[in-house]
Amino acid sequence: MGCGVFGVYGHPEAANLTYLGLYALQHRGQEGAGIVSSDGKGLYYHRDMGLVADVFNVEKLKKLPGFLAIGHVRYSTTGQSHPKNLQPLIFDYSRGGIAIAHNGNLTNAGMIRRELEKEGAIFQSTSDTEVIIHLFARAKGETVERLISALKHVEGAYSLLFMSEKELIAVRDPHGFRPLVLGKLKKGWVVGSETCAFDLIGAEFVREIEPGEVVWFEGEKCFSLFPFPKTKPKQCIFEFIYFARPDSFLFGQSVYKVRKQLGIELAEEAPTEAEVVIPVPDSGVPSAIGFSHHSGIPLELGIIRNHYVGRTFIEPQDSIRHFGVKVKLNAVREVLQGKRIVVVDDSIVRGTTVKKNMFMLRQAGAQEIHVRISSPPIISPCFYGIDTPTKEELIAANLSVEDIRRFLDVESLAYLSLEGLKRCVKGHKDEFCYACFTGCYPVSPPRERMQLEFFAKEV
Ligand code: AMP
Repeated sequence: MGCGVFGVYGHPEAANLTYLGLYALQHRGQEGAGIVSSDGKGLYYHRDMGLVADVFNVEKLKKLPGFLAIGHVRYSTTGQSHPKNLQPLIFDYSRGGIAIAHNGNLTNAGMIRRELEKEGAIFQSTSDTEVIIHLFARAKGETVERLISALKHVEGAYSLLFMSEKELIAVRDPHGFRPLVLGKLKKGWVVGSETCAFDLIGAEFVREIEPGEVVWFEGEKCFSLFPFPKTKPKQCIFEFIYFARPDSFLFGQSVYKVRKQLGIELAEEAPTEAEVVIPVPDSGVPSAIGFSHHSGIPLELGIIRNHYVGRTFIEPQDSIRHFGVKVKLNAVREVLQGKRIVVVDDSIVRGTTVKKNMFMLRQAGAQEIHVRISSPPIISPCFYGIDTPTKEELIAANLSVEDIRRFLDVESLAYLSLEGLKRCVKGHKDEFCYACFTGCYPVSPPRERMQLEFFAKEV
């Protein structure tokens, strides 16, 4: 799952701070949210479908006491959109309560689940995350040791938070597909998906949790271990392109700076004659700024976004998505009428949103439309936590750039090249995963998609 995670250790208002952290991470998932807290004697939780601000209120937060809490915002890629799949997942066992919040997808969860079910395990969700708990239950030793033994069996992407009544453990998989950052409060520690969540609560950004690192806390002390076989980091490049918030710092660099650089690179690679640069809000804004700076073509807000509609793509149902596109964006006729425009967006996935946007711009009077995309064509699905659909649904997996241009009914279309993209990330460009653009998967994709359904229906 795309998802966002946030955790607090050693602060008397752990749940309140987790709520704020999740609020800042809302862009990572809007399907549901949950918080589990502990006062050292037991776990307290609340989870529901919907946005953080709707799921929680003062009353609900008051019922989540303690110095320790973890939270999750969900955006489903595997597992059904169902309340039972909301995280953190919570389990009671003889040594007390435990809970887990996971960002990423496990590629061998289906296989492990089948094995465990053969041995008698009964699962309570259809989420891939639950296999970790079943493996944890079978492992030996203290909590950290048991969690590590469990994780040695799983493959794929996980940035996760695990808590017992007294402990908080944060783990990032050996490839480090998804981000995870560590922060410090005056009193206590915080861990979360992105640094923008730290800014909101006034936590100091300490550092990123490294690929393959396990971190846990005792009092004011923070402990760290690298228990997994070392492998090359493969951090998700799509976090930079689309997923992360531009005010976050991740994988060693500022998301905003990378995004703006993508636009500069794009203007260099695929220049065009036009009178205005139009960003597709919000995802295309930083790269459109870069494109405008580099090309010297002025930037204008030719599309305005209604901020009270969620990110349409993230809604898991097709019907809602199509409806969402129409309510979300509107064209500014005064900016577009009779103009030759360059429209900059970050990516094309299915092509349906872009097609509607281009139609809208034409209706508003744009004379020539030149589309520039600040990432390469997406030709392969992601198995590590980004909701890029099957190959059949990915427009660039099935049509050439020229065919897509015709489908969009625009004068020109150009994507950023893979080499251009690599030039925009500082440091080790081979430490990123580019599988959605290349089809080269650093971890084998699941042999089959885990398509499980709940048998019992809530009415
Ligand atoms: P489409 O026209 O359906 O391909 O949608 C393209 C739009 O979806 C672009 O404006 C992107 O910013 C946005 N987008 C790309 N990837 C994702 C994703 N994983 N989740 C939600 N939106 C996305």
